Amino acid sequence: MLEIAILYSSLLIAQVQKPPQQFLELKNKLEKYGFEVIIDLPPKRGTYGLLKVADKKIWINPVVFDLQIANPTLVHESVHAAQLCAGKGKMKTLGLKIQPIQAARRLFLRYTNIHRQDLEREAYAVQTQPNSFELATALLQKHCKK
Ligand SMILES: [Zn+2]
Repeated sequence: MLEIAILYSSLLIAQVQKPPQQFLELKNKLEKYGFEVIIDLPPKRGTYGLLKVADKKIWINPVVFDLQIANPTLVHESVHAAQLCAGKGKMKTLGLKIQPIQAARRLFLRYTNIHRQDLEREAYAVQTQPNSFELATALLQKHCKK
């Protein structure tokens, strides 16, 4: 009986787990620049985050909160959002000088398209910086200004 109660309460904790504060701040920023942030399963299976260029919608898979990767996931998609702003409707690299950490290399090298690889390299580079939030915010401010 006790076991069931404990199991039930931990389930509740998982369900009410709120997005971290930084996550909410960045989400607000994105919405300010006309992006819609949807916390739901992305239309493409097996992805944590997804930006749909055509209608500026960003999907964040709810599983990222349980995996404790909500922040880097949103930072990553924010970089793509900035790339979209920079390209005025098309994805364009931002010309960032930073490189992703070694462990993230295989994640963007799996993209065979060179242009896509460059876009992903920038997103992974920003998400793996210690000041990733400030960087992502600054990039949005710089490229998405009206
Ligand atoms: Zn990406």
